[in-house]
Amino acid sequence: MHEPISLATLRVAIDPERLALLGDDLRAAGLRATRPRELLYSILKAIGGHRSVDDLLGLLAQVDETLPRMSAYNVIADLERVGLVRRSGAGGSRAVLYEVKADNHHHFVCRSCQAVFDIPADTPPAIPDEHHLPGLIEESEIIYRGLCRDCVAIETAANDE
Ligand SMILES: [Zn+2]
Ligand SMILES: [Zn+2]
Repeated sequence: MHEPISLATLRVAIDPERLALLGDDLRAAGLRATRPRELLYSILKAIGGHRSVDDLLGLLAQVDETLPRMSAYNVIADLERVGLVRRSGAGGSRAVLYEVKADNHHHFVCRSCQAVFDIPADTPPAIPDEHHLPGLIEESEIIYRGLCRDCVAIETAANDE
């Protein structure tokens, strides 16, 4: 589960000076620095973690920044295409989750509370033998599924009753 995000954090994320700075990142990546791109990139960077597009829109709405859902999806796709944001399959049956592109890491997903944790990865996952592949691999991600410590504790306590 995500910690609640304070309004102060959200206000910092939409600060015009910060947006202007992030606009430079967008241009450096080859994108025009439009306001929707600045807003979504800024909010994801400010709060960190793994977030769905709806999470991001909900947070922006709390500080009176509303974007049409469809254009938010387009913006995230643009950010992903230029490598500023990465998509994680860790959401499973839930919405696709995005994060600011960080170092290579794997994910651990708790099957009970659905929390997604980063796991440092020194080496990318082993690539299968070429003739087992249907095409060209562009990135890879290992997802470990299990129970996080909190949920293990909850299950243990329940079993003790
Ligand atoms: Zn859990
Ligand atoms: Zn991650």
